Amino acid sequence: MEEIHDKLEVFSPATGEKIAEIVPTPLKSIPHIYMKSRHAFQSWSNLPIKERLHYLKRLRLLMVERMDEIAEVISKDAGKVKIEALVADIMPTIDAIKHIEKHAVKTLSGRKVTTPLMLMGKKSYVHYMPRGTILVISPWNYPLQLSMVPILNALAAGNTVIAKPSEVTPLVGACIENLFLEAGFPEGTIQFAHGGKELGAALTEQKPDYIFFTGSVRTGKMIGEVAARDLIPTTLELGGKDPMIVLRDANLERAVNGALWGAFTNSGQVCMSVERVYVERPVYKEFLMLLKEKTKSMRQGVQSQDDIGSMTFPKQVDIVADQLEDALNKGAVLETGTPPKEWKTGQTHFIPPTILSNVDHSMKIMKEETFGPVLPVVPFDTEEEVIALANESEYGLNSSVWTMDREKASRIASRLVTGAVTINDVLITVANHHLPFGGAKQSGVGRYHGEHGLKIFCHEKAIMIDKGKNDTEIQWYPYEGKYTSFLSLFQNYFSAKPNWIRFGKEYFSLIKLSKRNRK
Ligand code: NAD
Repeated sequence: MEEIHDKLEVFSPATGEKIAEIVPTPLKSIPHIYMKSRHAFQSWSNLPIKERLHYLKRLRLLMVERMDEIAEVISKDAGKVKIEALVADIMPTIDAIKHIEKHAVKTLSGRKVTTPLMLMGKKSYVHYMPRGTILVISPWNYPLQLSMVPILNALAAGNTVIAKPSEVTPLVGACIENLFLEAGFPEGTIQFAHGGKELGAALTEQKPDYIFFTGSVRTGKMIGEVAARDLIPTTLELGGKDPMIVLRDANLERAVNGALWGAFTNSGQVCMSVERVYVERPVYKEFLMLLKEKTKSMRQGVQSQDDIGSMTFPKQVDIVADQLEDALNKGAVLETGTPPKEWKTGQTHFIPPTILSNVDHSMKIMKEETFGPVLPVVPFDTEEEVIALANESEYGLNSSVWTMDREKASRIASRLVTGAVTINDVLITVANHHLPFGGAKQSGVGRYHGEHGLKIFCHEKAIMIDKGKNDTEIQWYPYEGKYTSFLSLFQNYFSAKPNWIRFGKEYFSLIKLSKRNRK
């Protein structure tokens, strides 16, 4: 049966006006896309890494030239303030390219490793070999960076890539495709499939050599299941419910400013946004008062003077409303913002920045991921209590501790079950490509950025070289008469004080035994 290609209509989340139409990729073209990818892999993987990096550099320079234009597209498509597109989406992407340009050759060069004495005469190496076709599926909240960073790492490592950007921000998806096209990447090395979850699901069914997925826990689990059927390795970068812990000796002004930005940047649609603040009781009131004051002074809109943009995905507005209603019904107090029924959403999707108090862990707002500008604030009394509260979550993406006491900060940080912890700061680990990025618990499987970012897209291969001059090895056949010799060799070798003369004698007597020919 002929497939019907409904056009994807694109509406601005901030103004409600129709801004574009996108033709989705037909499902029937998927086998051809894979075939092209596998064909291109033959030459791309054989290109010396330095040559592959020339393409990345060309792309970086193109992006530098087009920075403002790209920011405009992201802002329009996602309804975010342009400065957030520039600082938190474009900059980290270009910085990732620089990082790859600088470190990929060293990271992916084979390295020699130690060979133990027991294996004398041999040499050991680790080699990195590209995997093949990588499928990258991405979300809409940082639509440039979350597509491009895994794509770029996979390409630099010698793979070809099929990318499916989010259908919620299709203009950014098209923009990324054009950038790669203009940068002149060879045909088939990077291909884009535009469309929704059916397309994503169909792409995962074609046995890619690796799936790199960023998105919700729900979809992550579905993809994990499909991948498990064929033992396809995956990285799953999923959601979060990140706690912020403010101790009584913290720089309160900084902590409040940090909470404000950590919770409301990108309208709270950040996997690692601050979603729960625990404040030590002696400073709780002051913290809350300052937070309310500053929240009320924030400007909402998408003009250059504004701080908080629109929600991007209309469905998220309903989820946030449901969580907020649940909290209010269970006794939560609105310190700023309005009840959901007073939100002026519909055509546009602006949710007022909302501070909640009198909340507890029985409420959805403290348990489920809130992709919106809502921040619950809770007092606590002891270190043990707050560590338990922070860890009382299915998620474990990021967390932060605020105090001037470095020792205390490290002590608490070491007990938080999260992929990252920042001290007196929020979100920022993601901006350092030397650090691994990823989650604990339901927040994901695997790490990327830095060395991990390149190595996950390679088969890590152990190589051991023997000159091949000896006819046999001590552990090879025949076994006859060797057991007691091995026993004595190992008991000496692994003892507290090995006797090396004895070791030599025993080792060479084993060689002799191995060289015997059975009649
Ligand atoms: P989503 O899971 O709904 O969609 C993500 C992508 O998966 C989209 O491209 C979508 O089309 C595709 N998809 C949906 N169903 C699919 C299926 N069955 N098979 C294959 N592909 C499928 O997530 P979203 O709403 O786009 O993004 C928001 C979520 O992403 C939040 O939970 C957020 O925390 C998470 N996120 C995580 C990180 C991280 O790095 N850990 C970063 C950003 C966002």
